[in-house]
Amino acid sequence: MERFYNAFNRFDAYLLLHRLQQAGITAHVFNEHVQSIVGDVPPDVAQPQVWLERARDRPQAEAVLAALQADRRKTGSVRCRKCGEDNPATFDLCWHCGADLQVS
Ligand SMILES: [Zn+2]
Repeated sequence: MERFYNAFNRFDAYLLLHRLQQAGITAHVFNEHVQSIVGDVPPDVAQPQVWLERARDRPQAEAVLAALQADRRKTGSVRCRKCGEDNPATFDLCWHCGADLQVS
């Protein structure tokens, strides 16, 4: 096990975890419930963390993280190819029908 990423919050941690799992990387979120004690412990310890099961997955995990961060910088909307609904560009799945918006 190897610490890979200090998340901003639980949502951030699980978004990355989901992307890693999609890429076939086994990872875990730790510290997700300790934010209530921020102030009592160093922030580095209190934030949710994403850990990789296998250290050798790190190069691929770095690529997944870079793609996620690139997605965050996207603005505007993406139109669902299946149902035609507009979705925020940061969404992976259509809010309306659940189709994968990242398929190109
Ligand atoms: Zn849709």
